[in-house]
Amino acid sequence: MIIVLKPNITQEQVEHIMDKMDKLGLKPWLSEGVERSIIGVIGEEDMLRALPLEGFPGVEQVLAILKPYKLASLEYKKKPSHIDMGGGVKIGGKHISIMAGPCAVENRDMIIDIAQIVKDAGAVCLRGGAFKPRTSPYSFQGLGEEGLKYMAEAREKTGLLVVTELMDIRNIAMFEKYVDVIQIGARNMSNFNLLKEVGKTTKPVLLKRGIANTLEEFLMSAEYVLAGGNPNVILCERGIRTFETFTRNTLDLNAVPALKSLSHLPVVVDPSHGTGRWGMVEAMSMAAIAAGCDGLMVEVHPNPEDAFSDGDQSLLPKKFEAMVTRCRKVAHAVGRDI
Ligand code: PEP
Ligand code: MN
Repeated sequence: MIIVLKPNITQEQVEHIMDKMDKLGLKPWLSEGVERSIIGVIGEEDMLRALPLEGFPGVEQVLAILKPYKLASLEYKKKPSHIDMGGGVKIGGKHISIMAGPCAVENRDMIIDIAQIVKDAGAVCLRGGAFKPRTSPYSFQGLGEEGLKYMAEAREKTGLLVVTELMDIRNIAMFEKYVDVIQIGARNMSNFNLLKEVGKTTKPVLLKRGIANTLEEFLMSAEYVLAGGNPNVILCERGIRTFETFTRNTLDLNAVPALKSLSHLPVVVDPSHGTGRWGMVEAMSMAAIAAGCDGLMVEVHPNPEDAFSDGDQSLLPKKFEAMVTRCRKVAHAVGRDI
């Protein structure tokens, strides 16, 4: 930690800060410059972070040296993690994992049909919400447990893994029964009680970035799950809210190389929610692969015009197949495969 002092700080104020550090058992050192002085303090950054140091008289700024997240950091693991999503299907290595399916599970036949379609096109995971976080309480809220049963049936029929969103800690046992990967949606990225609870499960967690969260906040949310005892966290960039209104969100592809440089956790990109427009999904999927993502989460619907949710951003099966074919070429160009 580096404490930058104000130019007009008094000798007494400097001594007060030095005393405080001594009393905490830390070893501060004062470095006096012509215009500015600083106090350096090594160790116990967590303890220092909790102190309101910027409120001390004579302090201008406090600069942290260490990252606030530890288990999520690349320094902790040194190399990228390969996470088993279920049945030995791994994410985080050379292979790019495609997760695809409708926004919501609408009925049994549609989810089973679409599962076979996305599997044949190259997906390893079936997505589909049974509990939907809708902006309006009057919109379709999902089929609930019935939807999870249909997802599980689609897994039996196709061999695909199943990823679906958990919104409520009361449903964790139900999810453990039916689901392979537990999705935590953007709206719940900062629901710390939910994160603590999924930290206790044995299922991998796909954690989506909140609509207005920094990468550091995103990694701190991952840290909650990891600190709870669950080492299997997959990060998902799904677009953030900006001033732009043409797209539903602004897909922050900077997040891919940035997260890869900060963390060992695999990174998935969701170009469906990231753009809100089906016509942009293929381009952003290819860009995400070129940027170094480990997986894609894409919404596919047999008839987007009649979709219960997110029809605007859902690909028709044929478009999805064509997208995967083009993405495969980009993957090969950057030394990956699908
Ligand atoms: C979803 O993937 O179904 C979803 C609701 O996404 P997000 O949480 O990113 O909005
Ligand atoms: Mn959706």
